Amino acid sequence: MKWVYSFGEGSGEGDASMKHLLGGKGANLAEMASLGLPVPPGFTITTEVCTAFYDNDRQYPDGLKAQVAAAIATVGAAVGRVFGDADKPLLVSVRSGARASMPGMMDTVLNLGLTDETVKGLASLAGDERFAYDSYRRFIQMYSNVVLELDHHEFEDILETYKEERDYFLDTELSADDWKSIVASYKGVVEKVRGKPFPQDPTEQIWGAIGAVFGSWRNDRAETYRRLHNIPESWGTAVNVQAMVFGNMGDTSATGVAFTRNPSTGENEYYGEFLINAQGEDVVAGIRTPQPLTKSAREAMGEEDPSLEEAMPKAYGELTAVFDKLEKHYRDMQDIEFTIQENKLWMLQTRNGKRTAKAAMKIAVDLCQEGLINREEAVLRVEPGSLDQLLHPSLDPNAPRDLVLAGLPASPGAASGEVVFSADEAERLSQEGRKVILVRVETSPEDIHGMHAAQAIVTARGGMTSHAAVVARGMGRPCVCGAGDLKIDNSGAFFTAGGRQVNKGDCVTVDGSAGKVFFGEVATMQPELSGDFATLMGWADNVRRMAVRANADTPHDAQVARNFGAQGIGLCRTEHMFFDAERIVAVREMILAEDKAGREAALAKLLPMQRSDFEDIFRVMSGLPVTVRLLDPPLHEFLPHSDDEIEEVAKSSGMDAQKLKDRAHKLQEFNPMLGHRGCRLGVSYPEIYEMQARAIVEAACTIAEETGERVTPEIMVPLVAKSEELSFLKKRIDDVASAVLKERNATLDYLVGTMIELPRAALTADEIAGDAEFFSFGTNDLTQTTFGLSRDDSASFLPDYLRRNILERDPFVTIDTQGVGALMEVAVEKGRKTRPQIKLGICGEHGGDPDSITFVENLGLDYVSCSPYRAPIARLAAAQAKL
Ligand code: ADP
Ligand code: MG
Ligand code: MG
Repeated sequence: MKWVYSFGEGSGEGDASMKHLLGGKGANLAEMASLGLPVPPGFTITTEVCTAFYDNDRQYPDGLKAQVAAAIATVGAAVGRVFGDADKPLLVSVRSGARASMPGMMDTVLNLGLTDETVKGLASLAGDERFAYDSYRRFIQMYSNVVLELDHHEFEDILETYKEERDYFLDTELSADDWKSIVASYKGVVEKVRGKPFPQDPTEQIWGAIGAVFGSWRNDRAETYRRLHNIPESWGTAVNVQAMVFGNMGDTSATGVAFTRNPSTGENEYYGEFLINAQGEDVVAGIRTPQPLTKSAREAMGEEDPSLEEAMPKAYGELTAVFDKLEKHYRDMQDIEFTIQENKLWMLQTRNGKRTAKAAMKIAVDLCQEGLINREEAVLRVEPGSLDQLLHPSLDPNAPRDLVLAGLPASPGAASGEVVFSADEAERLSQEGRKVILVRVETSPEDIHGMHAAQAIVTARGGMTSHAAVVARGMGRPCVCGAGDLKIDNSGAFFTAGGRQVNKGDCVTVDGSAGKVFFGEVATMQPELSGDFATLMGWADNVRRMAVRANADTPHDAQVARNFGAQGIGLCRTEHMFFDAERIVAVREMILAEDKAGREAALAKLLPMQRSDFEDIFRVMSGLPVTVRLLDPPLHEFLPHSDDEIEEVAKSSGMDAQKLKDRAHKLQEFNPMLGHRGCRLGVSYPEIYEMQARAIVEAACTIAEETGERVTPEIMVPLVAKSEELSFLKKRIDDVASAVLKERNATLDYLVGTMIELPRAALTADEIAGDAEFFSFGTNDLTQTTFGLSRDDSASFLPDYLRRNILERDPFVTIDTQGVGALMEVAVEKGRKTRPQIKLGICGEHGGDPDSITFVENLGLDYVSCSPYRAPIARLAAAQAKL
C-alpha cells in the first residue's frame, strides 16, 4: 500500500485532483511542483493513514515508517542535506492539510530536526549564528506547544521578561547570544513541565509531530469547525513534510501571504502582506504589523515602510509571474503563501481563495468576461448561502455618527450590538437573543464559537489576513482588524480608544467595509442589487428550471420579494393579519362566540379588513400567483389572557365576562401544536374559511378590474390529514367563490389546494389530489410530525444530536432526505398519479436552504418559496441544482 506521495523538483507523484487522498495543501503542492514552480521538496502522508490510524486504535499502518524514512532521505538528497546530520542537517516543516481548507485548525511545526547538535551545523552552513538560534527557539516553542501541549505563555513570558530587562522592543534586536540564552530557558521550562528533556532525536521529533497532526483532527477546535461547515469526520487529514526554506535569514529574506485578486472587493489587483526577516505564522499572528505587497496599496494606506514591490523588486516580479500562472492554471483567484530566502522566491501553498460574497460575484463575472470560465461555471462559482452577506444592510451614508475607532476593513457589512470581550460571553448573550460585538486583542481558533455568535468582530492586532479577518469573511460577519488604538482594560470591563472609554454592554456599530467603529447605533441601508449581482443572477435565472416564490404576509414583504426577484408568493399566512391590535378583539369574539350567529357577527367585522389586506398584496404582486393559506394558528395564541382583555371582548360582543372566561378556559389545550388548528378549525367553524374565501375572491376581482392584469389566487387549506377534510372544505370554498363571481358578474382563475405537512397526507396523497389542484410541502410541520419533534422545544437537545453525530444536519434547516424526503417522494408520485398536472411547491423554511433546494429540484417540484430576503439565494441555488 502506498502511504506516501513525494513532490519537488518539477514533478509530483500527486496532483490537484487528489485532494481526497492528499488533502488540499498536499495536492496543490504536488500540482505546483509539476508546473515547475519553486516548491521546496517534500512528501505527503495520505488521509488514508489518518483513517487507518483512528480505525486501528491509533496505530500506524504497516509499512508507513519505512516509506516515511525513504521519503525523508529523498528530500535530503534533493537539497544536499541529511536528516539529523550534525554538519548538514535537513530541517523540515510538518504541516497538516485536510481536504477542505480549515484555516488555523491544525497546527504546523517549523524547523523540525534542530537539536543542540544540528543547530551548530545550521549556524555554520548559513554563516549566521543568530539565525540558527532564532530558528531553534521557534522550533522549541512550536513543538512544545503542538506536540508536548505546553502553553505558549510559558515561552512568551520568558521572552517578554528577557526583552524588558534589556530594554529591547523588537525581536529583531536580539543577538545570537540572546537567542542562545532564550533557548536554554525554553528547554528548562520544557523539562520542568514535562519532567523530560526536550527531545534531541530528530526521528522522535518527526513522529511526535506527525502524531500531533493526526491527533489534532479530533481536537475541539477542529470538531467545532467541522460542525459549522458540515465537514464529515471520516475525511481525515493528510500530513505534509517539506524541506524548510527560511524567511528569517536577514533583510533579504521575508515571508508573506497573498491573493491574486482583492478578496474583499474582487477587484483585479494583487493583494497581500509580508514581513521582512520573519518566519511562518509571524504574518498572521499580528505580532508585528505586516506591510502591503504593492506600492499603490502602501501609498493608499499612507504607510512609510516599503512595500515588497519596492523592497525586493526581483522577488516581487517572480511572485507576480507566479500569480498569473496560477490563476490561468486554476482558473480562479488564488490564496498563496510564500517565503523569500536571500532574494529567492519559494511557494509554500496555493488554494482557491476565500472571498466575500461581493468579491465572489465580481470575480466570477470578471473571469467569465476574461474568457477563463463560461457562464455556467460562473454561476457555480458563487456559494448561494454567501449571498446573505450582500442582502444585509450597510451604513446609511447620511446618518450621523461618532467615530470611536478605526482599523482595517477586514470583512464588509455593518452591524450594531453591545460590546463583549470574550467568546464565551458572546455566545451566552446571543443565546439570550441579544446582539453582541466581540472585541478582542486578537482572535484564535478557540474564539470561533464567539465569533459565530457575534454580529461583528473588532480586534486590536492583526492584518487583513489575520485569523479574525479570514474567519469573519468566511462567516460573513463584519470585521475591523488591527485597530491599533484599541486598548482593552485588564479588568475586562471597558476599552479605551483615542482617550475615550467604551464599557462592556455599551452599544457600538461596526462598519466592516470602512474599517470603522462608531458609538451607539448608526442607521443602516438596504444594499443595491445591480451591477455584477444583477449580471450573475441573470445568468442563473437563464439556467434555472424551478420558479422561486417568497413567503410574504404583508404588502411590504411582498414588495421586498418582488425586488429580490420572487416570481410569486408561495405562502401568505393569514393569521399574522389577525394579530393587529384593533383586529384581535374581533378575532377573540369569533373564537369565543357561543354560536354560529355570534361567530358570524364577529366575522362580518373581519371581512372588510381581510379583503383590504388581500387587495394590497394582490396589487403589489399583480400578474403573479399568490398562495393564501387559510387560518392555521393554534387557537390558544388568540385567547385573551388578562381580565382587561376579557373585558374588552365582553364589551365588543355584548357577552358576559364570566361566560367568556369559562369558555376561554375550556379552549385551553395540552398540546396546541397537535390540537385544534389548521383545517380542523375550518371543519368545526366552516364560516371562518368561508369568510376568508370571500375576502380573497372579492379582492382578486377588484384588483383584476383595477389593474387589468390577471390575478391568480391559490387558496390553500392547511394541516389536511384525510382527503375528506379537504373535500368538505373545498366544496364550501367553491360555493362562496361562485356566489361572489355571480354577484360581481366576473370570472377568475383560482386554485384550491392543500399543504402536505402531515405524514398521513403524504401517504394518501393520491386521494387528496382528487380535490387538491396543488400541493405545497409545509416542511416545517412535516419535519416536526415525521420526527415527532417539537420545533419550539428541540433547541435544547438538538445540539447534542449534532455533536454525537446522531444527526448530521439540523432537520429544520436542511431536509432530512431519508425520512421527510421519502414522504415527499411518495406524495409527489401519488399526487401525480391522480392528477398528472398537479402543481407542486415547497413553502417551509427549507425552501431557502441550498441543499434542500437541490433535493427538491431532483424531486421535480415546480417552485420553492422562501423568505423574501432569501429569494436570491434560492434563485442561485435552484440554478446550481439544475446544472
Ligand atoms: P496553515 O494551514 O495554518 O496555513 P501551513 O502548514 O500552511 O499552516 O504553515 C503555516 C506557515 O508556515 C506557512 O504559511 C509558511 O509561512 C510556514 N511554512 C510551512 N512550511 C514551511 C517550509 N517548508 N519552509 C518555510 N516556511 C514554511
Ligand atoms: Mg497555510
Ligand atoms: Mg404548517
